[in-house]
Amino acid sequence: MIIEIKVNTDKQILEQIASELQGILIHKPEGDIIITGSKTKKLPEKFNEFAEKIYVFENDMQLSSRQYRSKREIRFGELVIGGIHKNTLLMAGPCAVENHEMIDKTALLLKELNIKVLRAGAYKPRTSPYSFQGLGLDGLKLLDKMRKIYDLKIISEVRDSTHADEVIAYSDIVQIGAKSMYDHGILRKCGKTRKPVLLKRGFGTTLQEFVQAAEFILSEGNDNVILCERGIRTFENKTRFTLDLCCAAYLKQYTNLPIVLDPSHAIGYAYGVHDLARACVAMGVDGLLIEVHPDPSQAKSDASQQINHEEFKRVFESIKAVANAIGYKII
Ligand code: PEP
Ligand code: MN
Repeated sequence: MIIEIKVNTDKQILEQIASELQGILIHKPEGDIIITGSKTKKLPEKFNEFAEKIYVFENDMQLSSRQYRSKREIRFGELVIGGIHKNTLLMAGPCAVENHEMIDKTALLLKELNIKVLRAGAYKPRTSPYSFQGLGLDGLKLLDKMRKIYDLKIISEVRDSTHADEVIAYSDIVQIGAKSMYDHGILRKCGKTRKPVLLKRGFGTTLQEFVQAAEFILSEGNDNVILCERGIRTFENKTRFTLDLCCAAYLKQYTNLPIVLDPSHAIGYAYGVHDLARACVAMGVDGLLIEVHPDPSQAKSDASQQINHEEFKRVFESIKAVANAIGYKII
């Protein structure tokens, strides 16, 4: 249940209501709210006079629910996604920032195509402790350099909560990876910032769990949450994962959060990225994440799925046409 509290309600009363209902109190410029796990509209009578409006939900999809509010708008400087805007934000770059030369080449490619968001991991959550783990803070500094030279926005991921503050400071969008989706330390830290957070769906995660993870961030007060489907594990093993486009349809219908699709991690092979990217854009989503590398064969992580610059240019041209056909715009 979400209770919108009447403006000018005494602070002490506010805290008393939150404590008695064992609810989470969020201070908002438009008015404070209290959220509880209750699924009935009943408030203790003494509190009724302080409630402006009450929303009841069937499950713990609350702040993210379409029933609570219409589609959220998220701003990235001059760019905006979500709300009524039919924009698909293209976020592209290598899996990881590996050195100055390769990230500079990638940033230059984006600049040439007028793409505004550079993605690259500095802290990589790898499946093996023996593989490349990312450049850490040095990687974030390289990304910062690219931001300044090429006027790009940066999206980079938090691997664990010990460096969350660093990643938040250096990124314009903070990514929470599929393997970290259940990490409450990360979720709560990202809830404390006001920067946009892109939350990836775990590959064994139900939609209910995915949305509940988003609720952790939202209920800490960060309104800027973006959901990203990046493929789930199924019985199929010819492709790395299975891109769940039904997930995008469901999230569009029931949540108010912007939705991003990631064809690169889903298929895991460069050959399929072009076709899948078209399919993703045709879904009418708010963003697309694509891995691109100057020389994919030499990539230190996710080598098989990264596309080269020439292929990326072809993908870019064809997704613009698809977006145009459904009344969207790639930004
Ligand atoms: C990534 O974006 O490079 C990444 C590690 O993605 P995921 O968390 O979806 O595996
Ligand atoms: Mn990757």
